[in-house]
Amino acid sequence: MDNKKKYGIMGGTFDPIHMGHLFIAQSALKELMLDKVMFIPTGTPPHKKDKNITSSLDRYIMTTLAVNSNDDFCVSSIEVSKTEPSYTIDTVKELLELKKDVEFYFITGTDSFLSIETWKEYDELFKKITFVVVTRPGFTNQELDSKIEYFLTKYDAKVIKVLVPSLEISSTDIRERVINGKTIKYLVHEDVEKYINKNQLYLHNNNYTI
Ligand code: ATP
Ligand code: MG
Repeated sequence: MDNKKKYGIMGGTFDPIHMGHLFIAQSALKELMLDKVMFIPTGTPPHKKDKNITSSLDRYIMTTLAVNSNDDFCVSSIEVSKTEPSYTIDTVKELLELKKDVEFYFITGTDSFLSIETWKEYDELFKKITFVVVTRPGFTNQELDSKIEYFLTKYDAKVIKVLVPSLEISSTDIRERVINGKTIKYLVHEDVEKYINKNQLYLHNNNYTI
């Protein structure tokens, strides 16, 4: 057990990936001394199925562009390569099977963490991995702490809280900024910004209500 490698899993729609994602992954990496962080863009996210989201390929490419310069980061196509919706539990089971010498740490912002009980087989997930929950604006520390306490008591969950400076960045806001002609420079990696501009992402026909 002690000799196992420690990998962070950073799951998300990444539509698009932004500096908030990169910063929380880097913070978790350093704080927990992880060997690496795997970014896993979702294929067809179960909770965003009916919404008009950017193609898996575009989101996968942007994620790759964003993490490319960091040797501690990598991108997995485990979810985007599937045609069926992906659930975290299935991905985790697959990863555990593929990497028997690795312990996984699932990195999540407070918003996702608070809704874990809506995830498929979440109680099973608590048994298989450690959650790393990162603070996110819009939620009080008290709210987060009481949820952590509840998960510990009820499910014997392994949860580690990582405090980060309040990062008021979201993909929703970035998409809106593009539609409204506002700058997204420094909110996203410059190669991601170039990719968005070159491919005219988020300009047309996007009906996000997230
Ligand atoms: P959207 O607005 O489309 O929901 P998002 O910015 O929330 O996008 P996601 O891809 O939904 O990004 O999130 C992936 C993970 O990153 C989630 O666990 C989310 O909580 C976390 N996250 C995203 N942005 C931040 C942030 N600014 N601070 C902390 N956690 C964040
Ligand atoms: Mg989100």
